[in-house]
Amino acid sequence: MTSKIGKSGFIGIVGRPNVGKSTLLNRLLGEKVSIVSPKPQTTRFRTLGIKTVPQAQMVFIDTPGVHSGGSHFSRGLSRVAFQALSESDLILWMVEPSADLDEDDRSLLEEIKKAGRSTFLLINKVDLLPRQMLLPLISQFSLLASFAEIVPVSALNGENIDRLEELIIRYLPEGPPFFPAEQITDQPERLLSAEFIREKIFQQTHQEIPYAVAVSVDEFQEEKEKGLVVIHATIFVEKESQKGILIGKGGATLKRIGESARREIEALVGCKVYLRLWVKVKKAWRKDQEALKQLGYWSS
Ligand code: GDP
Ligand code: MG
Repeated sequence: MTSKIGKSGFIGIVGRPNVGKSTLLNRLLGEKVSIVSPKPQTTRFRTLGIKTVPQAQMVFIDTPGVHSGGSHFSRGLSRVAFQALSESDLILWMVEPSADLDEDDRSLLEEIKKAGRSTFLLINKVDLLPRQMLLPLISQFSLLASFAEIVPVSALNGENIDRLEELIIRYLPEGPPFFPAEQITDQPERLLSAEFIREKIFQQTHQEIPYAVAVSVDEFQEEKEKGLVVIHATIFVEKESQKGILIGKGGATLKRIGESARREIEALVGCKVYLRLWVKVKKAWRKDQEALKQLGYWSS
């Protein structure tokens, strides 16, 4: 009998900050749904990226990197990542192309083992690795746990990503799709817009500023007749001095952030965007549970 039953499932992408999880998700989907930057801890929310092909629906869970930082805020980020492990049919554990595991890698590996799900080890950034180092690295990693597959990839240039997708589909359980075929993310445009603004701040400011920032979209208005979306957003910082830096001389820094964010949001929503940004000081928002809740970081 050749009954055609489709496959579907949740695939958790986990790994230490900056290893390339968001880059991989965007690469797999061929569209940008998760923000990327060279600085660790850019991703704060769990993002679902959905890819539907004729034989399967893959629902990827991008997570904030797990790290052992002790603050209330960073513990919350780690919790989001651990949660993803228990929700996944398949886990993709991403590592740097080096056998030196740090404390964060080790604690994550322990959690992965506890979760007891099929796990692929993805050795990312192989574009940075001399070819002859790859096989020895794979055999070293294979001693750590019994991985279902070990897949070297480059999320950045796409190397081996098609092969990865084939393997993922092979391991997914049979079942009907969870989402409509055309849907690529569970993130509403409003929240993605806030994340794009935050990404530009990460890319264009330095030192403590990126981490001191939260963005809330206060207005997201579609003006259909004008073919325009009007967005008002507030950028919260923790101190007056940070506000000054973010705005920049004569408003130059904020203007640059606004212009590059606007271009990305226009690509997302597919029409012209009018974006207005405000900067406000909200003291110690990262320590303030109520503020975290309001900004959407806590679900409970
Ligand atoms: P995340 O914190 O794990 O989500 O990592 P990101 O996806 O934000 O990527 C962190 C940095 O690593 C960015 O500067 C990416 O461009 C870079 N990166 C990601 N994948 C690769 C890769 O395959 N090769 C190289 N050379 N860089 C990569
Ligand atoms: Mg990320």
